[in-house]
Amino acid sequence: MSKIKIAELFYSIQGEGRYMGVPSVFLRTFGCNFKCAGFGMPRGEMSHEATDIAGAHTMIKAFEKYEELPLVSTGCDSYASWHPDFKDLSPMLTSEAIADRIAEIIPFGEWRDEHLVITGGEPLLGWQRAYPELLDHPKMAGLKEITFETNGTQKLTTEFKNFLGTWTGLPKHKREITFSVSAKLPASGEKWEEAICPEIVCEYEEVGTAYLKFVVATEEDIKDAERAVEEFKTAGFKGHIYLMPVGGVESVYTLNAKNVALAAMKRGWRYSDRLQVPLFKNEWGT
Ligand code: SF4
Repeated sequence: MSKIKIAELFYSIQGEGRYMGVPSVFLRTFGCNFKCAGFGMPRGEMSHEATDIAGAHTMIKAFEKYEELPLVSTGCDSYASWHPDFKDLSPMLTSEAIADRIAEIIPFGEWRDEHLVITGGEPLLGWQRAYPELLDHPKMAGLKEITFETNGTQKLTTEFKNFLGTWTGLPKHKREITFSVSAKLPASGEKWEEAICPEIVCEYEEVGTAYLKFVVATEEDIKDAERAVEEFKTAGFKGHIYLMPVGGVESVYTLNAKNVALAAMKRGWRYSDRLQVPLFKNEWGT
C-alpha cells in the first residue's frame, strides 16, 4: 500500500482562486523544490523567519504540532510543509488512513459538494505515484472536483496523466480536475528560468483546467507577471490569469489588496482574494 507524507489534512473554505468560498478538504503534502524566501522582502533580500523557527525547533523540539507553529510575515507562509527540520511533524499515511480521516472531517462522512485541494509544499513532486490508489479508494468515490495547487514546475508522469484521464472520463461520474498554478515571479526569490515553465503548464491543460495565479505586491511584480503571461501564451497556454495580493498576515495583505484588484481589472485579468487571511488569520489548519 502506498503512503504519502502529510503535512496537514483539514477541512475549511477554499480562500483563493477559482473555487473561492467552496467547502474543501486540504491535503497538504510534504516537500517542495523551492523556498520562496523573497516574499515580502526588499528585492534581492531573503527572509530568515522560517530558518530561525526551524533552529528553535531543532534545538529544543519547540513545537509538537502545526497549530503551535508561528505564522511568518515574510517568505513562504507554509514553510513547515517543506523545511527538513519540520519533517517530524508530518506523518507518512496510507491511502486508507487518509480516506478514513477525510470521512471523519467532512460534515456527512461522505463526499457531497466538498472539493479536494491537493496542495503543499509542491504536491506534484514524487507523490504523483501515490495519488491513484488514494483517489480510487471506495471512500473517495463521491469526490467530483480536485484542485492541484502547484508551482507549475513539475511534469506529470505518463502513468499519472493516464490515470487522471480515466478519473475524469467516466461518463456517469462527471469529474473535474483543476491545476491552480502559482508560478513564482522574481519577488519570490526563485530564478526565472527555473520557475517559469510554460511547456509543463500547457501539458496540464491536456488533462484539466489550468489557470495562473501570480502573487504580487509592487508595480515591478506586475510587470514581471505581464512578461510571464507573454511567455505562457506564446507556448499556447489558454487558461485564465489571476493576480493575488502578497500577505500571509492581515496587515500586509490589507495594504495591497485593493491595488492588486485594480491592476487585475486594468489588464482584464481576474483577482483572487486570500479569504483565509481575513476569515481565519491564515492560521495553520485553515
Ligand atoms: S512553491 Fe509554494 S510551498 Fe514551495 S516554497 Fe514556494 S510558496 Fe512555499
